[in-house]
Amino acid sequence: MLTDQVAIVTGASRGIGRATALKLAAQGAQVVACARSADKLAEVAHESTQRELSGSVVPSVLDVTDRTEIDKRVEDTIEQRGRIDILVNNAGITRDGLLMSMEDADFDEVITTNLKSVFWMTRAVSQHMVYARRGRLVNISSVSGLSGKEGQTNYAASKAGIVGFSKAAAKELAKRGITCNVVAPGSIEPDMIEGLSEQVKDGYKSLIPLRRFGQAEEVAEAVAFLAGPAATYITGQVRTVDGGLLM
Ligand code: NAP
Repeated sequence: MLTDQVAIVTGASRGIGRATALKLAAQGAQVVACARSADKLAEVAHESTQRELSGSVVPSVLDVTDRTEIDKRVEDTIEQRGRIDILVNNAGITRDGLLMSMEDADFDEVITTNLKSVFWMTRAVSQHMVYARRGRLVNISSVSGLSGKEGQTNYAASKAGIVGFSKAAAKELAKRGITCNVVAPGSIEPDMIEGLSEQVKDGYKSLIPLRRFGQAEEVAEAVAFLAGPAATYITGQVRTVDGGLLM
């Protein structure tokens, strides 16, 4: 259980971040749920109340590409709640395109949203975790960052960057009792398959040993494990949640 622990989850307005915020709240955490869409965050908070979860979800509008806002939000959280025990860096975007025609703006936007934000959030939060001599950092990468994917040089670079960043942070912060791990999802519903024909979906599924797409809740389980009391001796690791795709 995560009773009374304070967690920050970025990209919590939908998909994997939303499922993670609700999972941590179900285990008793006070979750500061960050994203840009205030209305969607409010829905997540409403769901946590309706389901009478033992913890809570507090909406917090934040654009993770804004370093000044990140620093301010982390300070506000410490001021209002006194501690931050868990940080889940989940916010992410894609701007797919073939390498030869990829615009600088599409490369930069993906790197800033997916990778630089992880640096900014982790730097701000770890300053408090270091004093507390405890903390759990969980960063969401992707199998695309481990094996590469056509049309995703920008995205794969950002997600591979998260793996290197997390291993270096894990080594640096271990002596202060802080762990830092990575969860790398494969193809997760619904976003990955939206708009695809049944034929294309079946083609994708045939490549996955478990023959189905994953659910956001299945990724949230892995995040909650790495953030929870059972994972005290695990750091610097990459946990794929991909139906066996990468084995
Ligand atoms: P999603 O449904 O598209 O949700 C992305 C989340 O990130 C949203 O909550 C979005 O909220 C937030 N976000 C995007 N840009 C932001 C910004 N500038 N500032 C703050 N929040 C921002 O994505 P998902 O499928 O759940 O994926 C979540 C994470 O898992 C991502 O890092 C993704 O790369 C990774 N992943 C997903 C899959 C998959 O199959 N779904 C596979 C591998 C890895 P707002 O728009 O409200 O800001």
